[in-house]
Amino acid sequence: MKAIVYTEPNAVAVLERDMPALAPGEALLRIDASGICGSDLHAYHGHDPRRKPGLVLGHEFAGTVVASSDESRLAVGQRVTANPLVTCGHCDYCLQGRENLCANRGMVGMSRPGALSEYLAIPIRCAIPIPDALASVSAALAEPAATALHAVNLTMRALARPLPEARVLVIGGGAIGMLAAALVRSYGCGEVQVAETNALRRASVTRHLGCDAVDPLAGPLPESAFDVVIDAVGAGATRKLAIAAARPGGVVMHIGLQDWASEIDMRKLTLAELTLLGTYTYTMADLRATVAALERGSFGTLEWVETRALSDGPAAFADLAAGRVAAGKVVLIPETV
Ligand SMILES: [Zn+2]
Ligand SMILES: [Zn+2]
Repeated sequence: MKAIVYTEPNAVAVLERDMPALAPGEALLRIDASGICGSDLHAYHGHDPRRKPGLVLGHEFAGTVVASSDESRLAVGQRVTANPLVTCGHCDYCLQGRENLCANRGMVGMSRPGALSEYLAIPIRCAIPIPDALASVSAALAEPAATALHAVNLTMRALARPLPEARVLVIGGGAIGMLAAALVRSYGCGEVQVAETNALRRASVTRHLGCDAVDPLAGPLPESAFDVVIDAVGAGATRKLAIAAARPGGVVMHIGLQDWASEIDMRKLTLAELTLLGTYTYTMADLRATVAALERGSFGTLEWVETRALSDGPAAFADLAAGRVAAGKVVLIPETV
C-alpha cells in the first residue's frame, strides 16, 4: 500500500509500505479521506522529537472497515472515524473521562503508523461510526473539530456570563481557528473576529464564515475588548496579543502550541482577573459529540476544506509549508477510493 512517510526534515515521500496486520481487538480500515494537521507540518519541519523519520504521518481520517477482529462490535463495510489517541483505559484520568490526560497514551501518526495512507489498523474501541448523511471528507475533520469543541467547552465553563453574550476573538485562521469560530457562531455568538496574518486565509475566513477577519500586523487590535480570546496559534506574539486583547474578567484559551517560551503579562492577568486556560485534544465523548455536530452543520459548510489525491501529498506539504494554501485544511484522498 502507499503511504506518506516523513523521510527527513522538510521532506515527505509517497512510499510503498506493508499492509497493517489485523491484531486482536483491532479493525483494518481502507482510508477514504485523511487530513494534514499542523502537527504533521511541525514534524515535516523536523520540529517534533516524537515523530522520527520513517514514520507514516496523519491522524485525522475517515475510513471503511475492510477487516474486523470482532464483527459483533464493528462490522465490515461500516464507515468510521476514530480517536487517534489510544489511551490505557484504566488510569484515574481515563476513569474520570479525561482520557486526553492519560500518561500511557499512544497516538496514530506518532507512536503508531499514521493515516496518510491507503490502509490503517485501529483499536475497535477507538472507532466512531459515521452517519450516512455525513461525507467522509467532513468526517475526516472530526479530530480538529473535536479539539475546537473541547476548547470551547472548557472556555464556556470558565465564563461568568453565557457564551452568546461574549465578544470573541480567534487568533489564527487555520483549521482549529476556523472550526472554533464556526462553532461559537453556531452557539449564538454574534460578534466573532478572526485575526490572521495570511491574506489568502483572511479571505477564506470572510467568505466561508462571514466573520470579520483582521490582519494583526496591519495595526493594533483593540485592547481589553474581548470576553473570550482563543489563541489557535500559540506563539509568543499571539500569546501577548491574546492577553492584551482580553477584557477584564475574560477568558484566554490557549490551543495552539507553536512554541512555549513566553513572558506572560502577569500584572494584567492578576489585576484584570483573567482566566488563562490550556487545552489538549479531546475526549471520546467530545469526538462523538463532534461527529453529531458535524452532521448538524454546527461547523458550517466546510467548503473551505481543500481535497487532493494522496499521491499529491508531498506537494501539499510543500505548499502548506510555503503558505501557498488558502484552505485551513488539506484532506488527501487515496486513489483506491
Ligand atoms: Zn491534529
Ligand atoms: Zn489512562
